[in-house]
Amino acid sequence: MTNALHNSTDSNSMISSSSPSSTIHLQNIVANWHTLAKLSGSAETGVVVKANAYGLGATKIAQALYEAGCRTFFTAHTNEATEIRKAVGPLALVFLFHGLQQDNVDIVISQDIVPVLNSLEQLKLWQKANAPFPAALHIDTGMNRLGLQIKDIADAKDILPEGRIGWVMSHLACADTPEHPMNARQLELFKKVAAVWPQAQKSLCNSAGICLGKDFTFDLTRPGIGLYGGYSRANVFTPKHAITLTAPLLNIFSPEHFEDATIGYGATLPVKPNQRLGTVALGYADGMLRSLSNYGFGYIKGVRCPIVGRVSMDLITLDITNAPSDTSILDRVEFLGQHANIEEQARAGVTASYELLTCLGTRIPRVYEQPEQSS
Ligand SMILES: *Cc1c(COP(=O)(O)O)cnc(C)c1O
Repeated sequence: MTNALHNSTDSNSMISSSSPSSTIHLQNIVANWHTLAKLSGSAETGVVVKANAYGLGATKIAQALYEAGCRTFFTAHTNEATEIRKAVGPLALVFLFHGLQQDNVDIVISQDIVPVLNSLEQLKLWQKANAPFPAALHIDTGMNRLGLQIKDIADAKDILPEGRIGWVMSHLACADTPEHPMNARQLELFKKVAAVWPQAQKSLCNSAGICLGKDFTFDLTRPGIGLYGGYSRANVFTPKHAITLTAPLLNIFSPEHFEDATIGYGATLPVKPNQRLGTVALGYADGMLRSLSNYGFGYIKGVRCPIVGRVSMDLITLDITNAPSDTSILDRVEFLGQHANIEEQARAGVTASYELLTCLGTRIPRVYEQPEQSS
């Protein structure tokens, strides 16, 4: 990358040549936000920064996006919401997906956090609290997960009439499968129920939903994974990578090729003749899931090297037979980044990019590559 400018880490821990490390490309995250905002058309584009911004660092990322002009932030938990309020200051909107409980009413109101109400009980709590600003309402249109049920809408309107609900939201179950009939079904239902509060802003789309087009985007969109490089849609949206994850080679060798020679715990893979192996200082304790055993990959100087044998806690073995011959100890292997595509790595591990990101171990330092101070 050419734009490594003012790097900073979120901890003062030393980054050792024999340890894994990651670079968070704030500039690319901001660029992804701009792209998603364009795809959102006339809708405002908020950002989902729950789960520590999918493991990448909520405070730093929220601040970079605020600098870029973003004013709406979505969190899941109360402690996440207060962290974001502190990070971005008093002028931004901060939403709290998990809504209201008896024990967070005071902090929600004093910190000016918009609770996303998802049951009649929560609506009553908000009504009783008599807050000086409106709440958001999540209506379940098919996820059957969280949100007000359709049968409760008339009661909800009685409890919090027009003016007391500032936003009506729902969430798509199958947005990453554009041809799925569920999308149109949820869209129609959402239009109908959202009309009960005609003046409220409407919000339906996550990252994949935005890629379904302008019928779905309404007034406000809520992308998460697209910002973090983990979701693409052919011919519509190709994000820039948000993270580069690397770890060093600790050992390089050609194993002795005797009969029944195998690699790693459980002896899951036979050694091949003339094979070269590289042992990397990264493991499932760092979030390289065990399901990547014999399926995941790393890149050495742009050359793809398959994971061979089981991923262990602190080590991964790669077949580096095809890596450049000058490959040496402490050379860094890329597991996520420009070459190692996160969606492909996730598929190799039979998981989703969301899980790969949120599982990234806390012992991996995050180095923040700052956006250029332009305009
Ligand atoms: C997590 C979440 C999002 C963001 O979804 P992505 O698929 O990461 O874009 C949006 N809305 C709700 C309600 C969510 O829980």
